[in-house]
Amino acid sequence: MLDGAAIARQIRLELQDRVAAFTTVQGRPPGLGIVLVGEDPSSEIYVRNKLKAAGESGLRADLRRLPATASLHDLLDVVTTLNGSPIHDGILVQSPLPAALGRDAEQVVFDAVDQLKDVDGFHPENVGRLVQKRPYLVACTPLGVMELLARSGIAVDGARAVVIGRSDIVGKPVSLLLMHRNATVTICHSRTRNLPELCASADILVAAIGRAAFVTPDFIKPGAVVIDVGINRVTDAGLVQRLFPEGSQRRADFERRGSLVVGDVHPAVADVAGALTPVPGGIGPLTIAMLLANTLKAAEARCSASR
Ligand code: NAD
Repeated sequence: MLDGAAIARQIRLELQDRVAAFTTVQGRPPGLGIVLVGEDPSSEIYVRNKLKAAGESGLRADLRRLPATASLHDLLDVVTTLNGSPIHDGILVQSPLPAALGRDAEQVVFDAVDQLKDVDGFHPENVGRLVQKRPYLVACTPLGVMELLARSGIAVDGARAVVIGRSDIVGKPVSLLLMHRNATVTICHSRTRNLPELCASADILVAAIGRAAFVTPDFIKPGAVVIDVGINRVTDAGLVQRLFPEGSQRRADFERRGSLVVGDVHPAVADVAGALTPVPGGIGPLTIAMLLANTLKAAEARCSASR
């Protein structure tokens, strides 16, 4: 098991001196503005975790809340204010946005965030820079995957990597990062034929699908490194019983809470893979660590540019 939580703690520890130095020189900590629209329960948890992590690492983090009934105009107003704020170096608009804002709302909002404060790495300028291998701010989850591979001593150069998922948030950027580290990358998605066969050629398999326990042992080359990005809240008792043996801690957790967070990778993959990230405790904590790293990077860059 690749202990993402321990690696994330280490990264956060390494940021502390830089945060302290920034705070001393600037007379204020690096600042992150988080915008949350509506009351999506998963988003509430993610935002709470981000605020807590930022506070623990000495960053300032402010939450701007808007009701689910807010208009796109209201949301863009908040983004514009944060763009102009001298004390906010990073801006994050929590996705998903309420469906009522319209299908293109996320893109419109991500486009509106100042690219120098775009700690989520979703602005087209930052995406373009990543494509051209001159990245500035890169999406946090893909960065977390790469940090985990690097700090676990997993060779990427020359490896055959398969990524399942082609989203702008995970699949596409992680594929580019792997390619830039000289992996030979295949990107798979919902229309891919012979998916298990393609995956079974991978030295490194990244699953970013959003379907609980979708990746079964037949997808895995024995000894492969498997990175499970999926976060799926499961409430189906039958599925939990099929996935986890009676008497296991996971079953007990489910019985206590009535739900369980499960990755995209089936637990039985642990018997075939050479290394595997757990869910929870794998890529999730690394995503938060990279958000803090991106905020500090944006803060340092803004302040050195204005000197
Ligand atoms: P998404 O819905 O935007 O994309 C899912 C991708 O999976 C799509 O590209 C789709 O083509 C592919 N897919 C769907 N069904 C498939 C199938 N049957 N076969 C092959 N491919 C299929 O999701 P996303 O935003 O990329 O997130 C993916 C997962 O990662 C989700 O579970 C999400 O919660 C999780 N996630 C975790 C973190 C983290 O911090 N660990 C961050 C972001 C997303």
